[in-house]
Amino acid sequence: MYDTIIIGSGPAGMTAALYAARSNLKTALIEQGAPGGQMNNTLDIENYPGFDLITGPELSMKMHEPLEKMGVENLYGIVTGIEDKGDHKLVKTADTTYETKTVIVATGAKHRLLGAPGEATYTSRGVSYCAVCDGAFFRGQDLLVVGGGDSAVEEALFLTRFASSVTIIHRRDELRAQKVLQDRAFANDKIKFIWDSVVKEIKGSDIKVDSVLVENVKTGELSEHAFGGVFIYVGLDPVSGMVDGLGITDEQGWIVTDELMRTVVPGIFAIGDVRQKHLRQITTAVGDGAIAGQQAYQYIVEHG
Ligand code: FAD
Ligand code: NAP
Repeated sequence: MYDTIIIGSGPAGMTAALYAARSNLKTALIEQGAPGGQMNNTLDIENYPGFDLITGPELSMKMHEPLEKMGVENLYGIVTGIEDKGDHKLVKTADTTYETKTVIVATGAKHRLLGAPGEATYTSRGVSYCAVCDGAFFRGQDLLVVGGGDSAVEEALFLTRFASSVTIIHRRDELRAQKVLQDRAFANDKIKFIWDSVVKEIKGSDIKVDSVLVENVKTGELSEHAFGGVFIYVGLDPVSGMVDGLGITDEQGWIVTDELMRTVVPGIFAIGDVRQKHLRQITTAVGDGAIAGQQAYQYIVEHG
C-alpha cells in the first residue's frame, strides 16, 4: 500500500513527488514516457524563475534527478483507470493494479487537432504539432503555423531558424500570445501573418504537403497558398480519460479542484495542466504540485 501515487511526471507530478517524499510518504510516480512531460518538447524556457534560459529537457532532468534519492519509486506504465474504495484507491495499468491511500493526477494536456480536411492524411508528411521535434526537416521551406496563442508564436519564432519564411494564420486580427512573444514575432523579418482566416484544407501529393486552402472569415474569400509544412497550435485538451466515472471533471474533461488541489472525491487530488485553471505554465504546475504533495500528507494524518 502506497501513501500516495502520482500519475504523470511532468513538472506538476515531479514537484508533488518531491513534497510527498519530503513528508516521508511512501510515494510512487507512474509515467508512460520520459520524465518532463510537455517540457521535453520545449527548446528554450525563459520564464522559469532562477534561469535566464534553460532548455526543456535540461529542466526536466534537474527536476527528476533528486527524486530517487528522496525515496520516490519511479514506475513505468500507462494508467488506464482509478477506482475509489473509500479508505484506499486502486490505480490500474494494463498489467498491474496498485493500492494507495491517495492519488494525485498530474497527466497534463495534449495538443488539440484542427479538424481540417487533409490534416490526418498529411500528419508526419508535412503536418506537425511539434516544431522542436520536426523543425529541422523543413530547412529552406515556406511554413504555415496555425493559431494565435503562446505556442503558435513561440514555435513560429523557433521555426525561423530553419525555414525561408513562416506565416502565422490566425482566426482573428489580434494575437492571444504574451506581449513579449508578439513583439518578437512582429520584429522578425521571416514572419508574416494571415489575419481573420482559417485553414479550409491541407493539400498535397501522395507524399507531402504542397499547399493550404485558406478562407477569410470576414469576407468568405478563398485563396490557395504554397507551403511545405503546416505546424498546428490551436490549444490543448486535457488528458483525463483515466478518471472517467469518478465525476471529477467539467464537460470538457478538465479536472475541477479547490485551491488545495482536492477533487470532490476525498483522497484524490489533481494538479497542473489537467486541472481547470486560468494559466497553464511550468510555474503554476510546480505550485500546484507543492500544494498537493503537502495535502496528501495532511489527508493521511487526518484519515490514517
Ligand atoms: P505535462 O507536462 O503535460 O506532463 C504530464 C505527464 O503525464 C506526461 O509526461 C505524460 O506522459 C504523463 N501521462 C499522461 N497520461 C498518462 C497516463 N495515463 N499514464 C501515465 N502517465 C501519463 N510553460 C512555461 O512556463 N514556459 C514555456 O516556455 C512553455 N513553453 C511551452 C511550449 C509548448 C510547445 C507547449 C505545448 C507548452 C509550453 N509551456 C510552457 C506549458 C508547460 O509545458 C505546461 O504548462 C506544463 O508542462 C504542464 O505540466 P504538467 O506536469 O501539468 O503536465
Ligand atoms: P491557447 O492559449 O489555447 O491558444 C490557442 C490558439 O489557437 C488561440 O489563438 C485560438 O484562437 C486558436 N484556435 C483555437 N481553436 C482554433 C481553431 N479551431 N481554428 C483556428 N484557430 C484556433 O493554446 P496554446 O498556445 O497551445 O497554449 C496552451 C498553454 O500553454 C497556455 O496556457 C500557454 O500560456 C502555455 N504556453 C506557454 C508558453 C510560454 O510561457 N512561453 C509557451 C507555449 C504555451 P483565439 O485566440 O481566437 O481563441
